[in-house]
Amino acid sequence: MTNPGGAWSALIGQPDGVERLHAAAVASRAVLAGDRGATVAAMTHAWLFTGPPGSGRSTAARAFAAALQCADEYAPGCGQCQDCHTALAGTHPDVTLVATDQLTIGVDQTRGLVLGAAMSPSRRRWQVIVVEDADRMTEGAANVLLKAIEEPAPRTVWILCAPSSQDMLPTILSRCRHLALRTPSPDAIADALSAAEGIDRTQARAAAQAAQGHIGRTRALLHDSAAAAGRAEAPKLPSEVADIGRALRAAQSLVDAAAAEAKAVSETLDAKETEELKVALGYGQGKGAGSARGVAGSAGILKDLETRQKRRATRTQRDALDRALIDIAAFYRDVLTHQFDPDGAAALSLVHQDHAQQTHAIAARSTPATTLRRIEAVLDARRAIAANVAPLLAVESMALTLRAG
Ligand SMILES: [Zn+2]
Repeated sequence: MTNPGGAWSALIGQPDGVERLHAAAVASRAVLAGDRGATVAAMTHAWLFTGPPGSGRSTAARAFAAALQCADEYAPGCGQCQDCHTALAGTHPDVTLVATDQLTIGVDQTRGLVLGAAMSPSRRRWQVIVVEDADRMTEGAANVLLKAIEEPAPRTVWILCAPSSQDMLPTILSRCRHLALRTPSPDAIADALSAAEGIDRTQARAAAQAAQGHIGRTRALLHDSAAAAGRAEAPKLPSEVADIGRALRAAQSLVDAAAAEAKAVSETLDAKETEELKVALGYGQGKGAGSARGVAGSAGILKDLETRQKRRATRTQRDALDRALIDIAAFYRDVLTHQFDPDGAAALSLVHQDHAQQTHAIAARSTPATTLRRIEAVLDARRAIAANVAPLLAVESMALTLRAG
């Protein structure tokens, strides 16, 4: 099938996924018309979209939500009508987008969603709830959700997004139709970005390669100089680990760089949120005594915001450090590419093409077995940080293992 275009064109490198979702959107019309039987089989009330970060899970969810609401009877997801526009922009009255910058989604928030999901859509089609980080639901929250998808309201569609199906409770998994997105190829990303945004194709392909198929990261590398500078930092560590002092300093600067990136993000968001909340609570308004303190009970509300902001900062820092570790693992994968390909035929597949000299040099003085051990050390560090080991401790330990070879 050729790409139906419209809202679907934002979904890069997923022809199979687009075909299934388009068929489901077509079938959803038959469901609303009261059909039973084979024509409606492509549609269901609960979906799980999985795929590695940057593969376009939330883009797919928005495109599908748009197609479900689309006014075009024959080409759902036309991308032109008011319903498509608002669904894609996140302002459609019957599409709820849940994106969290917190480490977890709790029971209270999920109960709120379930209540909203039970309401009839305000327009004529579906009530769609997209949970972008369904893997962040606590077990309690997942059980609240489970009850809702076991007995769905007749015109409600849940779209859950997660990195992989293992991230979800088996009970939820068994009640969802699963759509697995794959990491788009650098060529697919380069084609899409050069067609849609007029970016030079060679440049777009190099960025897509460096971003390892992560579409958002590819865009950041092309447009955001801070991201490009950060990307240049991580692959330096492997060349620094030859002596202990430099290895530990390299570990420290990697963790510092992640903290700096997180701080930049937090400062911008925190100040704005705190200011908005203070205005909403009536701080600094009027001239009478007490106006500086806001309405009764507001100190607690501000305290809650502060707690949420702290949690978000932790997550942002963890994400930045994880990206750096993925870049280092890719550096050693490039080393391995050299080791198995002495003629350089695979040069185009190197992730860090701008570090080809360094990876080549390390390949010449080590063995594939050593390289595999080093990749394992980087993955160990990622696992340790995900399990709440102090980042500096995990990265130092990794640097020392990389040094030992
Ligand atoms: Zn439309």
